[in-house]
Amino acid sequence: MTTNWTIREIDARIVRDRLQGWLPERVFDAHAHLYRVCDLGSKAGEFARSGPEIAGYGEWRARMTELLGPREFAGFFFPMPSATVDVAAANSFLAGELAGRKDCRRAMLASPSTSAAEIASAVAEFGFRGIKGYHLLCPQQPAMQAPIADYLTEEHFAAAHELGLVVVLHMVKDRALADPANSGDIRRLCVRHPRMKLLLAHAGRCFNPLHAEEGMVALDGLRNVWFDSSAVCESASLEIVLRRFGPERLLYGSDFPVAFQRGRCVAVGDGFIWLTGDWHDWKRMIGAPEPSLVGVESLLALQRAMDARGFGNAEKELIFGGNAEQLFAD
Ligand SMILES: [Zn+2]
Repeated sequence: MTTNWTIREIDARIVRDRLQGWLPERVFDAHAHLYRVCDLGSKAGEFARSGPEIAGYGEWRARMTELLGPREFAGFFFPMPSATVDVAAANSFLAGELAGRKDCRRAMLASPSTSAAEIASAVAEFGFRGIKGYHLLCPQQPAMQAPIADYLTEEHFAAAHELGLVVVLHMVKDRALADPANSGDIRRLCVRHPRMKLLLAHAGRCFNPLHAEEGMVALDGLRNVWFDSSAVCESASLEIVLRRFGPERLLYGSDFPVAFQRGRCVAVGDGFIWLTGDWHDWKRMIGAPEPSLVGVESLLALQRAMDARGFGNAEKELIFGGNAEQLFAD
């Protein structure tokens, strides 16, 4: 039996004891997906299929409120990717969900073949403030070792520079940001397109702190790069972002719906593994631990990273909202 998508006693207890009083009243979630399962196609994935058929703005808000308690929630949303997603349908669903929501921002999904003209017209029609590319949309699969240019093209970055858009990058390759091909591309793209704002999802996909330690140095001095904390469960990765770039460059993200997946992403050796709730051997582990939700684990990691830096309310305001305002300032 899957326990994804439900809030269990373990989640409620950790949130109540550790997070409720710590979280600010206003929470801007800078990484959340809104989608309809029907738009994801045949490769929708078990987790999405086991949740709501329509995961729109209302669903996101209700779930976040249920997990973290009533607060003023807003966010930066993009469609959910899958190898078979109907990109146009997913983008227009997202735009419809957020119509009139001035407190929220939206990014469009772009496939490698999306042209600059298509981006400009979608921005004009739907008010997108960003682009999200994804390796799953590469024609050649699997694309886990793809260079950035295979899923976010030079044309995409040039359009983002032209229109002042945020590019949300979920990079791949085994060592993520620690791969010099990725960090070199990022530096070159940020310098060449200074009006483009690069938001590195999952702290540069540094699910392993080794990758943060080795990779982030290559981005020193760049003025148009930000990180989101989404789904990162190792506090050391987030602490490295805070140490190198300060509290002004990290944004909280839930990675909804991933926040409602049970388990944790754990650094192992030079990589990481997802211990998810459907990994059925928890009971055979020493002490039979009961896993919590990714959304809870990643908030604990963010809290620990901020505590380790000695950060208080001022930095909290930045990470949970102020930095997003800066990111989307014209
Ligand atoms: Zn995501």
